[in-house]
Amino acid sequence: MSFHPPQRTLMGPGPSDINPRVSQALARPTIGHLDPAFIGLMDETKTLLQYAFRTKNELTLPLSAPGSAGMEACFVNLIEPKDTVIVCANGVFGLRMKENVERIGATAVMVHDDWGNSISLEKVSDAIKQHPDAKALALVHAETSTGVKSDVAGLCSLAKENGLLTIVDTVTGLGGIEVSVDEWGADAVYSGTQKCLSCVPGISPLTFSPQAQEVISNRKTPVQSWFLDMNLIMGYWGQGTQRSYHHTAPVNAIYALHESLTILKEEGLENSWARHQHNHNALRAGLQSMGLNLVVDEQDRLPQLNAVAIPQGIDEAALRKQLLNDYHLEIGAGLGELAGKVWRIGLMGYSSRPENVRLCLSALEAGLLAQNVKLDTGEAIKAANGVYNQG
Ligand SMILES: *Cc1c(COP(=O)(O)O)cnc(C)c1O
Repeated sequence: MSFHPPQRTLMGPGPSDINPRVSQALARPTIGHLDPAFIGLMDETKTLLQYAFRTKNELTLPLSAPGSAGMEACFVNLIEPKDTVIVCANGVFGLRMKENVERIGATAVMVHDDWGNSISLEKVSDAIKQHPDAKALALVHAETSTGVKSDVAGLCSLAKENGLLTIVDTVTGLGGIEVSVDEWGADAVYSGTQKCLSCVPGISPLTFSPQAQEVISNRKTPVQSWFLDMNLIMGYWGQGTQRSYHHTAPVNAIYALHESLTILKEEGLENSWARHQHNHNALRAGLQSMGLNLVVDEQDRLPQLNAVAIPQGIDEAALRKQLLNDYHLEIGAGLGELAGKVWRIGLMGYSSRPENVRLCLSALEAGLLAQNVKLDTGEAIKAANGVYNQG
């Protein structure tokens, strides 16, 4: 029997809702991955990714694997056994970076910040002073586990001043908030397709600076992963019509990515960031009118990932279940240290729309009323509309 998934509205930490244009692109006929028509599409996709990342980096490509593989690709290509890497951790994904460093046989010097806070430049500066031999600084731009954004520009310039390479996770950042790879001077940056790009999951956009590319070409040891070795992948993604077989690209998923990047370019990066901020403002107004608070300080908040403190006495899992059953609406649970303490409401990419904000607020209101919270019915929508009516 065929599988027919339920029709959901996706407002969790990813995947996000997919624009129907992207689904249509996905369904187009599969062609060979070395077909001249596909090679043309590969070149266009690369140019669109350079636009999205705001970079001129030649080595910019969609890795045929999810964001976690993008993370691993950056580490295994730039880092060798016995290297030292300063790793910032203020949530789940920074901790995964540590795992990656240690599995290479390198040393991770950890800079911890509390979950819900941004990365402290002061602490990173101290760590750099204490470890002058460090090769790289690794950090998460948009921490999806907490809804925190960190100052990548500041962190990258700290690293550059001290001769460190930078590895930046912007899986949840790209398309939702400013990502400016060249301006930051970041060396290895990875993202994902299923967050603010609103494409199908399973691809990781990657970009490496010329300096990172040089480091990769001049390694003392071979990259431990054959599949993720950029020296080999460059031959597939970087050589025009001279492309040689490395693996079979996920042809239809690349159609989908090309379409989602085309949509982003049509809208314009700045407009997309402003849309994410605007819908966040409306959601926040509605949440606050119901007495629900965001856990992250305003200046560090990601508009696309809202960590909401769960009020005392609420059965948080029952509420999420009610949203899914009654509204076909998915919001996220807390992860790691914040499990059971927050809901994570995503407003990513195509999910970041006024009708979704209103649906979510109405559904939350019903969920809270069902658990005997005293509320003024309709206030949340009124508060959100107040933001939208200001234009
Ligand atoms: C989602 C996410 C990842 C992992 O991406 P997958 O596609 O799930 O492998 C990595 N880092 C951050 C910050 C994320 O939000």
